[in-house]
Amino acid sequence: AEAQLRQAQKMEAVGQLTGGIAHDFNNMLAVIVGGLELAQRWLPDTPEKAERHLSNALDGANRAADLTRRLLTFARSEPARPEMTDIDACIAGFAELIARTIGDRIALTLDLQAGDLACWLDRQQFENALLNLAVNARDAMEGHGALTIRTLDDDDGKALAVQVIDTGCGMAPEVLERVFDPFYTTKPAGQGTGLGMSQVFAFCRQSGGEVQISSTEGEGTSVAMLLPVAAPQTDRVAEPVSGQTERAT
Ligand code: ADP
Repeated sequence: AEAQLRQAQKMEAVGQLTGGIAHDFNNMLAVIVGGLELAQRWLPDTPEKAERHLSNALDGANRAADLTRRLLTFARSEPARPEMTDIDACIAGFAELIARTIGDRIALTLDLQAGDLACWLDRQQFENALLNLAVNARDAMEGHGALTIRTLDDDDGKALAVQVIDTGCGMAPEVLERVFDPFYTTKPAGQGTGLGMSQVFAFCRQSGGEVQISSTEGEGTSVAMLLPVAAPQTDRVAEPVSGQTERAT
């Protein structure tokens, strides 16, 4: 019954998702068709009016193309390429990009306490997840505030936590409820894709971990990626040498 309920909820989510996209796409088509019709009507007598309608149509077409591009990128998510990753070292190496992304009116603090704990994960996806969280934090702080990235041993060396903590606007309960839904965004059109938190969620799941959020409206948000710690590197390197073909790049 539990599994059935989950399946039903999943189908409902898929329905909402495709419904939402179809709706947006229809709106864009309406802009395109309307623009073309008006352009056709004005073309003989008032070509400058026709031109304006053509440019509206073009704008709609470009937005539709952008939507399909985003859908494809989302659907075509690359298979993970996990590797042994020293989390603290990885974050330290990535911090400069994060700092540049959030700008210098937001103070970035790194508090890396995971020592040499390592996780078996796709480093690129991990960095993407971290960047998504940093961008959300930046947007929630509207340009100024404090962003802390903290790592710690979360379970006696068996799991580690990567926390991204901001002093931003926080999330209302109805936002918190939908935050992992693909394409759910509260940001103005053109600014949010609604895919950031879905990526974070998918990445953590795929890595055998989970995401926890605690948020207080008007005070800030803390998002924690809880990731399983991998056995020491030697276990992983000792894979069979014979008959193994390298994965194509
Ligand atoms: P996007 O950032 O493109 O909107 P996300 O999936 O990353 O998509 O986030 C979905 C929504 O969750 C955001 O639009 C925002 O309302 C909310 N959100 C995410 N992170 C935070 C945060 N740190 N503080 C406040 N709200 C957040």
